[in-house]
Amino acid sequence: MKRYSIFSLLRNAFSYHENWSRAWRSPDPQPEYDAIVVGGGGHGLATAYYLARNHGMNRVAVLEKGWLGGGNTGRNTTIVRSNYLLPANALFYEHALKLWEGMSRDLNFNVMFSQRGVLNLAHSDSQLESYARRGNAMRLHGIDAELLGLEQVKAKVPLLDCSDQARFPVKGGLLQPRAGTARHDAVAWGYARAADARGVDIIQNCEVTGIRREGGRVAGVETTRGVIGSKKVGIAVAGHTTQLAAMAGLRLPIESHVLQAMVSEPIKPILDTVVTSGATHMYISQSDKGELVMGGDLDGYNSFAQRGNPPIIEHVVASVLALFPAFSRLKLMRTWGGIMDMTMDGSPVICKTSVDGLYINGGWCYGGFKATPGSGWVFAHTIANDAPHPLNEAFTLERFAAGATLDEKGAGPAPKAH
Ligand SMILES: Cc1cc2nc3c(=O)[nH]c(=O)nc-3n(C[C@H](O)[C@H](O)[C@H](O)COP(=O)(O)OP(=O)(O)OC[C@H]3O[C@@H](n4cnc5c(N)ncnc54)[C@H](O)[C@@H]3O)c2cc1C
Repeated sequence: MKRYSIFSLLRNAFSYHENWSRAWRSPDPQPEYDAIVVGGGGHGLATAYYLARNHGMNRVAVLEKGWLGGGNTGRNTTIVRSNYLLPANALFYEHALKLWEGMSRDLNFNVMFSQRGVLNLAHSDSQLESYARRGNAMRLHGIDAELLGLEQVKAKVPLLDCSDQARFPVKGGLLQPRAGTARHDAVAWGYARAADARGVDIIQNCEVTGIRREGGRVAGVETTRGVIGSKKVGIAVAGHTTQLAAMAGLRLPIESHVLQAMVSEPIKPILDTVVTSGATHMYISQSDKGELVMGGDLDGYNSFAQRGNPPIIEHVVASVLALFPAFSRLKLMRTWGGIMDMTMDGSPVICKTSVDGLYINGGWCYGGFKATPGSGWVFAHTIANDAPHPLNEAFTLERFAAGATLDEKGAGPAPKAH
């Protein structure tokens, strides 16, 4: 792999940037691999990279039915944070956040990780108290958290309507200063390039259509490019997790729903942190291109469509304008949707399954982008050792049967509530 650096940038400038080498190969599938990862999103690519880097497994293939990052990895609102209440979630996401902090150097690829902070707004005294509880729990785990009063919120986000007349009065907020955003496509490309350099075969336009089993254990996969053998198959397909699991006869406590996002026309820098409002169901940040990036709630019914409907767009825009009246003259430029794999408790599933050699990484709900490096790290460990890493021991399928759910919000078995 040719290193990216200021010198390679200068060298290539002299030839008008026409001679950059390809970032990763495009090989034909081999008949057999030591491990196959299905899904060329951030999670699948990170898993393959850590299989090679941490566990010395180089005969690995990533099979992607479309193009790299064409799923939720390239569709999210890029928020990265670790502000969780429950120990299993907090420790796992904090591990991921630490990996984010070193990712550009590790991958030799600028993922534009910007630690601009994530501010959760409190609109009532009781919400502020529950934030204080979550902030205290985070600090006990060594995670940064600051409880802000109204004046501090005003100073941090001057455009926010903090007046007495506001439709949703602001009482304060919980800030995680180390949280922020990253360039989502770059994460997929960075992991792909680094995995490829370690010998991983990345095979695009290769849809998995069946999972082969022999004597109760995995023997390989059927794909649109033929049968590929492997005794270890890891599924990392986000919204399609239930479909892949069904190929091996498994029924999961996961539902697929559409989540939409949208951007305004680009404007000059005006918002230098991520602001979320759980009460109004909206979150907003400004991209490096200047667009305001906004998202909200699920569309509210099961779907595998990668597009949504106007009512949610209207809801998100109404919430944004209630909090930021100054944005009312902006034009909406683009909207899109992705398929969310919603679990019944809002926490992910990263585990072995009842089929020997089959591993599942899914159930990311709204929040799998921030998990990407941590998810790849522990999933690679699980596949390589046929046993969970301490950080994903709790993310089993069995927890649903045992009633030991990881219900971060205490919202019960309702995907829409997570
Ligand atoms: C609108 C929106 C906003 C979001 N905002 C955030 C956010 O701000 N922060 C955050 O942390 N998370 C966010 N998320 C969630 C986050 O994007 C996902 O949880 C995460 O990207 C999942 O990554 P992945 O690699 O598992 O999935 P994906 O990137 O979806 O990759 C899965 C891949 O599997 C492929 N695939 C599917 N079926 C097959 C098959 N049969 N054979 C081969 N390949 C297959 C797909 O083509 C896809 O490329 C958001 C999601 C959406 C849709």
